[in-house]
Amino acid sequence: MTPLALSGGPPVRTTLLPYARQTVDEDDIQTVEAVLRSDWLTTGPKVEEFEKAFAAFTGTQEAVAVSNGTAALHAAYAAAGIGPGDEVIVPAMTFAATANAAVFLGARPVFADVHPETLLLDPVCVEARITNATKAIVAVDYAGQPCDYAALRTLAQKHHLVLLADACHALGATYGTAKVGTLADFSTFSFHAVKPLATGEGGMITTDDIDAAGRMRRLRNHGLTSDHRERQERGSWLYEMEQVGWNERLSDIHCALGISQLKKVPTWTKRRQSIARMYDEAFASLAAVTSLGKRAGLTHAYHLYVVRLDPKRLSANRKVIFEALRAEGIGVNVHYIPVHLLAYYRRDQGTSEGLCPVAEAAYQQIVSLPSFAGMTA
Ligand SMILES: *Cc1c(COP(=O)(O)O)cnc(C)c1O
Repeated sequence: MTPLALSGGPPVRTTLLPYARQTVDEDDIQTVEAVLRSDWLTTGPKVEEFEKAFAAFTGTQEAVAVSNGTAALHAAYAAAGIGPGDEVIVPAMTFAATANAAVFLGARPVFADVHPETLLLDPVCVEARITNATKAIVAVDYAGQPCDYAALRTLAQKHHLVLLADACHALGATYGTAKVGTLADFSTFSFHAVKPLATGEGGMITTDDIDAAGRMRRLRNHGLTSDHRERQERGSWLYEMEQVGWNERLSDIHCALGISQLKKVPTWTKRRQSIARMYDEAFASLAAVTSLGKRAGLTHAYHLYVVRLDPKRLSANRKVIFEALRAEGIGVNVHYIPVHLLAYYRRDQGTSEGLCPVAEAAYQQIVSLPSFAGMTA
């Protein structure tokens, strides 16, 4: 047998296969080029066009475009009324931004554990974390699989909480007959280059709450009651500001790319699902490597294909296997370091090991394998 690249052998691939990558075709390029030749680079007609197309895609009343997925969380949390003193329940197994956005608003993220097979937010643990200060539950559709929204909705109603979905992995997935984007009071998306729809940087919030959508549109634009284009169309310089907002706008350049990309999401989702089936089959006979569990009654968007390595059945640990795959040119990754173990949360929020044991144990064993629409068999 030829030696592994890690031991000096020739790598399986000469170029790195990334774990995720955007797909940009000639159509996308021409759409962006047309914006560059137009009158509006930002706050122009493409923003509303993208919002309308996205709302139609997810089947929601409203979609609000913002500068990235973190801004989507920030604006949604603010529109949901999250503020100083509030507690927001988030899963430990997520990207830091899900928790950080609560900190931006003076609220406190409270970490709940995940289900051992799916790594999705565990409703039983959520209920145990609810206090008088709890304002909201944020579900994360980890890897692209929708959470148990029936159970989470019941909990939210019983305790009068807002239910949010950080759906950054799950665009294109469905839950029963409902699409991701409609499963919570607010759902947030990221269009970062590695996500299922890529505009470079970008984000969106979907909601059926029309007033909240208006608040988010003002918050993304400094809190002003009108934007540059509206004032230009009215021939007026006047604006009013009732509340302090931020600049979390998304440009027309990004939105044009988003409109073009959105049309391809169904095909891309199918492609990632078929890659996942190939992985499933390949790993079915390997006891040391298990794919994450799939819940019944839904479709999975497979933004990530995550496996767990069983240390008892392997002679090398996760770190060595990770490095060996990297050396072969296979761009594996690890999603995620449990957020409560990051230095800020340990130091400033007093979190520590043992808070979410399922997420902590999973973190030692997981590896994300390459999965993106443009990947060949
Ligand atoms: C990517 C991601 C974010 C942040 O999105 P950005 O566009 O990078 O700000 C938040 N939550 C989850 C689960 C993500 O995957």
